[in-house]
Amino acid sequence: MSTQTHAAEHAPKDIILMEDVNKWYGDFHVLKDINLKVRQGERIVLCGPSGSGKSTTIRCINRLEEHQKGRIVVDDVELTNDLKQIEKIRREVGMVFQHFNLFPHLTVLQNCTLAPMWVRNLPKKEAEEIAMHFLERVRIPEQAGKYPGQLSGGQQQRVAIARSLCMKPRIMLFDEPTSALDPEMVKEVLDTMVSLAESGMTMLCVTHEMGFARTVADRVIFMDKGEIVEIAPPEQFFTNPQSDRTIAFLGQIL
Ligand code: ADP
Ligand code: MG
Repeated sequence: MSTQTHAAEHAPKDIILMEDVNKWYGDFHVLKDINLKVRQGERIVLCGPSGSGKSTTIRCINRLEEHQKGRIVVDDVELTNDLKQIEKIRREVGMVFQHFNLFPHLTVLQNCTLAPMWVRNLPKKEAEEIAMHFLERVRIPEQAGKYPGQLSGGQQQRVAIARSLCMKPRIMLFDEPTSALDPEMVKEVLDTMVSLAESGMTMLCVTHEMGFARTVADRVIFMDKGEIVEIAPPEQFFTNPQSDRTIAFLGQIL
């Protein structure tokens, strides 16, 4: 069943828990003692230099990557090799990538109904109703019958967001969702993300859009060389960063 089973909860809980998470690619120590708790409804922005481990961190949360040490608990389910648990978490955690990853041979509507029909076993009609609801929310219902290749990059990314939302996720992960877009399309995707944030979605966003971080994030995380160097609310992060590494990074991007 869907999110209804969680209706009984009241106070925000830690929906993502990472405890001393370590990961290696061969000999390369890519994540070093990552500790992070994300409360339900919280908006987190993850930033840091290229290669610092941002993508790896969020990919561990839905087990696109496996960690070797420490614990990751998502919505009370610990990530282990248990495939049933992994499937459960993937149903609850939506992910949006830099390169939209839409199915090119399916229409926008079919992209959005595929997983709800085949993973959640929804009847086609119901899946289509849900898809149209979310395509309206990202403000492109009129594109439902088109193929991804017929859309702009910004439109494709909004389809990718709608497609994720059709699975009724409890957490959304974004990995540089605007980095591959032409500048004039960045805003329409950020606007979609802002509206999602306002709806109360738990969001973990890797992005260099510091305006988004300032206005939307509850906390900003700075990573460098596989470590979390600093976590702070945006006003503190941007005006009074504590670490020299954060200061150097902000000096480069602001
Ligand atoms: P970021 O998203 O911050 O740019 P990543 O998490 O993608 O960083 O990568 C962190 C480091 O791990 C980089 O040095 C990258 O080259 C390395 N890396 C990423 N994926 C792999 C992989 N599949 N095999 C080996 N090294 C990898
Ligand atoms: Mg990355």
